[in-house]
Amino acid sequence: MNNVDIEKLIADFPLIKKMVKLKEVNWFNPNITSLQEGLPYVGLDNNDIQDASDRLARFAPYMVKAFPETAATKGIIESEVVEISAMKSQLEQQYEVEIKGKLLLKKDSHLPISGSIKARGGIYEVLAHAEQLAIKAGVLELSDDYSKLLTEEFKCFFSQYSIAVGSTGNLGMSIGIMSAKLGFSVSVHMSADARQWKKEKLRAHGVNVVEYSEDYSVAVEQGRQEAESDPKCFFIDDENSQTLFLGYAVAGERLKQQFDDMHIVVDSDNPLFVYLPCGVGGGPGGVAFGLKVAFGDDVHCVFAEPTHSPCMLLGILTGLHDAIAVQDIGIDNITAADGLAVGRASGFVGRAMERLLDGFYTITDQRMYDLLWLLNKVEGIQLEPSALAGMLGPIVVANNGEYLNRIAVNNEKLVNATHLVWATGGGMVPTVEMEKYLSKASCKLFID
Ligand SMILES: *Cc1c(COP(=O)(O)O)cnc(C)c1O
Repeated sequence: MNNVDIEKLIADFPLIKKMVKLKEVNWFNPNITSLQEGLPYVGLDNNDIQDASDRLARFAPYMVKAFPETAATKGIIESEVVEISAMKSQLEQQYEVEIKGKLLLKKDSHLPISGSIKARGGIYEVLAHAEQLAIKAGVLELSDDYSKLLTEEFKCFFSQYSIAVGSTGNLGMSIGIMSAKLGFSVSVHMSADARQWKKEKLRAHGVNVVEYSEDYSVAVEQGRQEAESDPKCFFIDDENSQTLFLGYAVAGERLKQQFDDMHIVVDSDNPLFVYLPCGVGGGPGGVAFGLKVAFGDDVHCVFAEPTHSPCMLLGILTGLHDAIAVQDIGIDNITAADGLAVGRASGFVGRAMERLLDGFYTITDQRMYDLLWLLNKVEGIQLEPSALAGMLGPIVVANNGEYLNRIAVNNEKLVNATHLVWATGGGMVPTVEMEKYLSKASCKLFID
């Protein structure tokens, strides 16, 4: 959409006026439906998630050997859930609002191999592609012990093929490291926001890193073009891939199991609120889909985006999805939250999930830095800026009585609520980079 009539858009959606001014906004979705009504629009169901889950189980013996850091979880890439009650009291004091219920953190930031949520979808799609190639060539059967994929024969087999992807950093890390390990020739097309250390790490793994001075959409487009000209090259399409989406969705049943182990109940008297940082949408969209299938209507998913990159909110609010970019309304898509620096949302995810998401809010870079500093100070947990976008969620919800009323969550239920902030990345940030992030905080005076 090129010549966007901003005046008309603002008349139809007054919220856009605040978004253009880069104000923090929130929008709780009046068009939300039950899971039953919304699920058909996704076009995928629990069988598809089970299929992905089974595939990851087949690869587990391979993963244990290829990445010994996954041995503790028997070759399954999964993260811990921890309670962050000190952070909860700090948030309550600073924002002068009570957060009723428990505050938990899902540490995808510390997932093995690539230290971000992309270790779910990105790695899954590479494995699915590798399996498909090997089965088609008659060198692998579903019942085999997949650790045989570690042999030189298989590395040689996969080296005939290549993989390409466009990324702001973390997806490239997951796909690059996984593809190179299997033996694929892999190119990662990195947008201008991508951190230097991520590029260096990938090069050290033998990945071909192509750098752009433009943003994510350009990097993706270049990757797509490279793949089109080469029939042996597979392009991983972060904007449209159902495979990536399903890799993320497996998180739902896994979280349910973790909650069972922790004796955390989710039902209509014990609601679950989950706060997910959103870039193009595949990660949070896939996770939200998995959560809805696992927990039904008692899980409420809220997406968080930078004030400079509110692409999913813009797409769903206007119903224009991928036909509009934040740049069309004069927003620059420049943010320190590099994992979220996406100007145009996935049309597939927006259309699939718009009925199943409770709400959206935006957050400034400065607030992400402040929350980053605070979490480190009171919990000793270090994340990258993007991963803090979700941390404001419990405050946004606590302050929105109208929304809570509409979804019939009264005080009695709210005291039993679980608030889960999805920490999407940061576990592999080098110390010097982390020091730079910490130095940007402005809130130090609050608790010293
Ligand atoms: C990629 C990413 C996200 C968002 O995932 P999308 O699939 O782009 O929406 C959030 N946080 C971090 C750290 C990421 O790398």
